[in-house]
Amino acid sequence: MNIIPSSRHIYAFSPDMELAATVQLGEALRFDALDALGGQVRSESDILAGLDFNRVNPATGPVRVEGVVPGSTLVVRVLAIDMEQQGAIVTGPGLGVLGSEIEHHTTRILPVLNGMVHFGDLALTARPMIGVIGVAPDLESFPTGTAHRHGGNMDTKEIGIGTTVYFPVFQQGAMLAIGDVHAVMGDGEVCVSACEVAAQVTVCCDCIDGRCLDWPVVETDSAVHILVSLPTIEDALTEATRQAVGLLQKARGISKEEAYMLTSLAVDLGISQLVDPNKTAKASIPKSILPRSIGDII
Ligand code: CA
Repeated sequence: MNIIPSSRHIYAFSPDMELAATVQLGEALRFDALDALGGQVRSESDILAGLDFNRVNPATGPVRVEGVVPGSTLVVRVLAIDMEQQGAIVTGPGLGVLGSEIEHHTTRILPVLNGMVHFGDLALTARPMIGVIGVAPDLESFPTGTAHRHGGNMDTKEIGIGTTVYFPVFQQGAMLAIGDVHAVMGDGEVCVSACEVAAQVTVCCDCIDGRCLDWPVVETDSAVHILVSLPTIEDALTEATRQAVGLLQKARGISKEEAYMLTSLAVDLGISQLVDPNKTAKASIPKSILPRSIGDII
């Protein structure tokens, strides 16, 4: 299997990134990812204010997928996420949703053992997810901490083991990079971080000709989630709604008004994260109202 070591990482998704490896369609590939803090937090005396921010949000890659061309859709199946046994969560003054009310920089080390994340005397069921996953953008460069149409720091808890993520392809070979695994996270990621943990992420890539969506999509067993990241959550929710209406109109062959109504009846709008430079909203469409698989609709 192809293995991309964590030493091969980027801090920005750019149109012209230097590649770390090339893979074939359908080939399994493992990304060894540092945690989002760049491995700088090893004890509870390591606080966010003391970190080297040039080393925050590394994403392993990028990988060129042979035969994938601009204008198509990259399909990434998440086969496995194998986490290290120690994670960390950090917060402090000015950080996250209630930052103005927080007085002290605080770090907690979170053991990740036997499928559980230990926070003090509480044990939470681990739900490993990929925070940063994306491809080379069209024209602009984006720091790995900023999500947009190319993916990036979407911090969406649905991007876990067994799911499939679809990306619009802007550059030859797509140029996939992955980092920022969380052992567990709640929607919003309100304190600015989650259980940040180093991990080995195994995926395989496929490709679909053409595309109908300009934003990433994650497919789970029960739903298709359209992921929109914009500077305000209001704008992200509005665009996610627009994308869901457009997808249902096309998939079901109904009018825009009917698709708008169906979205109101059956689609859940949600928040992935509220704390990164662009905020991520999701429109979750139950598969039961889609007549075909998302791959066929694209
Ligand atoms: Ca993140």
